[in-house]
Amino acid sequence: MTRTGEVWRSEIAIVGGGILGSVLAGFLAEAGRQVTLIDSGETGGSTANAGSLHVQMQSRFMRLYPEHVPGMERQLPLYPRAVRFWREFERELGADFDLKVNGGLMVAESPDQLEFLKRKADRERELGLSVDILDRTDLDRLAPYLGPAVIGAEICHDEGKLNPLKCNRAIRDWLQRLGVTLLEGVRALSLEQNGAAYSGFTLHFPDGERLHAEKLVLAAGAGTGALAATLGLNLPTRAEPLHMNITEATAPMIGHLVQHADRMITLKQFSTGQIVIGGGWPADLRGPRAHPTVRLDSLTANTTLALHIAPSIAPLRVIRTWAGVNTSVDGKGVLGPSSRVPGLYYAVPGDAGYTLGPLSARLVADMMLNGDAGEDLDDYSPRRFTA
Ligand SMILES: Cc1cc2nc3c(=O)[nH]c(=O)nc-3n(C[C@H](O)[C@H](O)[C@H](O)COP(=O)(O)OP(=O)(O)OC[C@H]3O[C@@H](n4cnc5c(N)ncnc54)[C@H](O)[C@@H]3O)c2cc1C
Repeated sequence: MTRTGEVWRSEIAIVGGGILGSVLAGFLAEAGRQVTLIDSGETGGSTANAGSLHVQMQSRFMRLYPEHVPGMERQLPLYPRAVRFWREFERELGADFDLKVNGGLMVAESPDQLEFLKRKADRERELGLSVDILDRTDLDRLAPYLGPAVIGAEICHDEGKLNPLKCNRAIRDWLQRLGVTLLEGVRALSLEQNGAAYSGFTLHFPDGERLHAEKLVLAAGAGTGALAATLGLNLPTRAEPLHMNITEATAPMIGHLVQHADRMITLKQFSTGQIVIGGGWPADLRGPRAHPTVRLDSLTANTTLALHIAPSIAPLRVIRTWAGVNTSVDGKGVLGPSSRVPGLYYAVPGDAGYTLGPLSARLVADMMLNGDAGEDLDDYSPRRFTA
């Protein structure tokens, strides 16, 4: 990046340094592009997420957004690919993400819930996922940590977990090795498409500073819609503040990612021994900067449900709770070039966006570098919001 007066210049500017924007910056820099990554430092999803590698359809999503289930089904094959991609990415970086693919359980406590899981598993098998239904005898053998209320479960063999703190650190080091310019703690206020004198875009920052870039990527999570609006474009991103907890460490006991057929929970154990408890309980957005803030009722309900599912965690103390901002659009990724503004790209992952982040970054990078990603990505095109 070069600077003339108060104007910076860069070949490519990416707004949003979450998982998608960061990994995309790395792939573009590896291909020899000059990249500036701009991040305001607000809490999004990538710095706050639970580290679940999701593959099976999440019952929470199906319950909250039934109208988006058909789109989610079309997107489903991306998830096992995304988990494999995380593994390759870990190897390429020579990093340790604490990544384990031990399978994910979605548990049932009633015959109705188990019936729901059987129907879901049938559909997912048709769509190519590796899933099975387990009864209580199977669970006693595979997951003895589950409480007596659990009568069965669906297991998705490709699901897993990783430690986002380790991933984010390793990715940041990789970007620095690649020479990506990091503008951290800097908020892009508005965007402007340049006229004939200088092609590309001008990004406006507080204090009148500007950056000219030939290509621009919007990877700002829940902030993407507001930035697109400054160019007169529509992208309906919504901020969804969510709650998380982590316990003190204990001996290894929970190997799987655990979810519920009907209630909001994700439960897993890192190799540090700590149990991570999440699952989409609400947080608040407070203050002038809409900072994600924990709610006592979410803390109580989330940890009570965790105890019910895995009673043996009862002696453990919760050592930290926090909140982050998930981005919700229509469940599917918004990936690729704007149909209205040449040189502008979107990079917003679909539901469970940390899982999808690196693979989505690869797809957007290929579109930017080669004109297409070598596969049909029309379903993720921002064109669907043009009307
Ligand atoms: C509590 C919680 C738990 C989750 N758990 C999981 C999980 O276990 N597994 C999973 O797959 N997914 C999970 N998710 C979802 C996942 O974290 C997100 O989908 C994913 O991280 C989104 O990545 P991103 O790069 O698109 O955006 P984000 O990580 O949200 O990053 C966007 C960035 O853009 C920056 N930004 C925004 N506006 C501007 C601006 N105007 N100028 C400059 N910078 C700007 C923000 O500061 C932010 O850093 C969870 C989300 C939350 C909140």
